[in-house]
Amino acid sequence: MVVGLVFPFIFFGSRHLQSLGFPSISIFAFYGSLGVPIAFVAWAAYRFNRVRRTVKQQNYLLCLKCMYALRGLAPSGICPECGTPFDANDLKEKWQRELKKLRI
Ligand SMILES: [Zn+2]
Repeated sequence: MVVGLVFPFIFFGSRHLQSLGFPSISIFAFYGSLGVPIAFVAWAAYRFNRVRRTVKQQNYLLCLKCMYALRGLAPSGICPECGTPFDANDLKEKWQRELKKLRI
């Protein structure tokens, strides 16, 4: 989606600039400028999928703030890593809400 928005902008933008007397951008700069948003979207999707997979693997027993694995600890208390209070009964629901928020 981002690519679809950026591509015509750069393409017609460069044509427009050329018609105004600016030198044309090289083909490398053209593809390079496309690479940045593509790389960012790929990176964000990769990160999101990794977090989602980890959370499900740990059966949602991860600290919401620092993702410390809370499996094997008391069902409620504070995260040993960052001190955030947690309740194992609420974690699944809270994680599902967080993951839903991140999904675009
Ligand atoms: Zn924590």
